Amino acid sequence: MAISEFGLIQRYFGARGTRRADVSVGIGDDGAVLRVPEGQDLVVTTDTLVRDVHFPRSTPAHALGHKSLAVNLSDLAAMGAEPSWATLALTLPKVDEDWLKAFSEGFFSLASDFNVDLVGGDIARGPLSITAQLHGFVPRGGGMRRSGARPGDRLYVTGTLGDAAIGLELATNRTQRGSTMERAYLLSRLHTPLPRVSEGLALRDFARAAIDLSDGLAADVAHLCRASGAGASIWVDKLPLSDAFRALTDTTERYRMALGGGDDYELCLAIPAENQSAVDELARSLDCSLTQVGIVERNKKLRFLHDDGSEYKLQKSGYQHFRRKGER
Ligand code: ADP
Ligand code: MG
Repeated sequence: MAISEFGLIQRYFGARGTRRADVSVGIGDDGAVLRVPEGQDLVVTTDTLVRDVHFPRSTPAHALGHKSLAVNLSDLAAMGAEPSWATLALTLPKVDEDWLKAFSEGFFSLASDFNVDLVGGDIARGPLSITAQLHGFVPRGGGMRRSGARPGDRLYVTGTLGDAAIGLELATNRTQRGSTMERAYLLSRLHTPLPRVSEGLALRDFARAAIDLSDGLAADVAHLCRASGAGASIWVDKLPLSDAFRALTDTTERYRMALGGGDDYELCLAIPAENQSAVDELARSLDCSLTQVGIVERNKKLRFLHDDGSEYKLQKSGYQHFRRKGER
């Protein structure tokens, strides 16, 4: 006999139970009951992954489980929040238990790395779409926003840029370039990004503003600048790039992919000058690199500059779901 909806939920999502003491009621009731610690603010974020829009059909189920949580953890990281609870709404074209098993393994493996409990969700039938919602805490009044940057602040990014954009070209067979090792690395950066949660927590008291990079550095820095009422200069020859990225791109593609490619899930932070030496010091204890890529400017423009001072003109930047007619 085919397994019931409730059986499915129980088998793949409920059976693990909860580990956190702040979960009074988890999966199985009409709602979850959760306790926010004294003196903390609750941070909530949600993100949807739709097949053929956010990920290609070839994406392994395990990777989707990981990524649906990772993209939300990345938002919490940018807020400087400590993750706590998740909910998960799944729309599936059919019941495929192999798929569900791999998906839930990917999801729970990352959840346990970050001490996140799954406390509820929903399942429906339809075109494949995954929505996770994540909750976390910041000390009351603390954490980071997009809006705090001031002229003169240094712009830093974690990790390397553009890897996932090349990974997407590999995943969709638009390029066949690269060694086996390079391809595997770039695909892992697309499929299983590592959210910079500990970096967000370590840097939240030193940064004046932060954003996570989902649409490409150029578009996301523009969001940060708009929220802060400022502009920025980005130093394109200083962008942190992986060896695999360099191996698979020529110099003309390089800037465009690193600035315009989405799905990086790195953090971009605005660090006031007086905190710069403390942050450079702290950077040595992080798991990933931290690189200054520019500076916040009073002039509300976003400019891309080469080392010799000449300007780099970026063509198109940032994915938009509802672009107006005639817009690129
Ligand atoms: P309701 O009919 O009240 O919406 P459901 O049958 O949708 O309840 O869900 C039953 C329980 O299972 C609820 O506690 C819900 O939060 C949980 N749940 C449903 N789908 C998921 C899922 N994909 N992941 C985790 N929990 C889920
Ligand atoms: Mg329901």
